[in-house]
Amino acid sequence: MNHESIRFLEEQAARRRIDILNLIYKAKTGHIGGSLSSIDVLTALYYHVMDVDKIKAGDPERDRFVLSKGHSVEGFYSILADKGFFPKEELSTYAQFHTRLACHPTSKIPGVEVSTGSLGHGLPVAVGMAIALKRDNRKSHVYVVMGDGEQGEGSVWEAAMAGPAYKLDNLTAIVDRNHLQISGNTENVMCLEPLADRYRSFGWNVVCINGNDFGEIIPALLTRVPGKPTAVISDTVKGKGISFMENQAAWHHKVPTEEQYQQAMEELEQKLKIN
Ligand SMILES: [Mg+2]
Repeated sequence: MNHESIRFLEEQAARRRIDILNLIYKAKTGHIGGSLSSIDVLTALYYHVMDVDKIKAGDPERDRFVLSKGHSVEGFYSILADKGFFPKEELSTYAQFHTRLACHPTSKIPGVEVSTGSLGHGLPVAVGMAIALKRDNRKSHVYVVMGDGEQGEGSVWEAAMAGPAYKLDNLTAIVDRNHLQISGNTENVMCLEPLADRYRSFGWNVVCINGNDFGEIIPALLTRVPGKPTAVISDTVKGKGISFMENQAAWHHKVPTEEQYQQAMEELEQKLKIN
């Protein structure tokens, strides 16, 4: 990754963070903390790693993306609009009556492979996709982003067993490891550590990264080990980019006041200027 490529990705992520804030402030609903923590990984996928033209064309050889933590949808919608899956103006309908852009993504939306939001389903679906793609001799890769709180769902671990059993080297599971979930610190709610060792013991190739650093994200997403799926433990900051939201569980699902909105926007626009 050269400096220019990283700067380009940082600028895209800064724009997506502004969209996330605007969508949630205007609709007066949304999951801001987890959208901000995971947006760098989504940006890396859609602006560098995956061939978006193939996805738009519905090419059977396209890579597949599953946002298992479907509540972190605002950044995903911002990317899909920016990439032309639907008109940017449609973003203003987010969370309104009769919109396609509900608070969790559904497969009615162009570019969304599978409806998500009930946690613990994304990895099992991604495993199924990866098995089918292998059987069809497709070169496609499957990426799934899960939450860390989501790791408390039993179905995650059934799928975690299946991935290596079927030698799914066309599957990358990313855990947005922001250490918080709706009710507090993950280690107090349902201890996850040693998370990397757990995936490793299930047979996964495991890569641990700073998930808010493109210099680490890109190589991790491009890692391939023959015969093994890859788990990326993506250490992130919940609320990343807005100082008073960072590392605060309360911002899992909360709407900024007008004053907070102004301060947050100033900080995000400052980041855009630096780039
Ligand atoms: Mg979390």
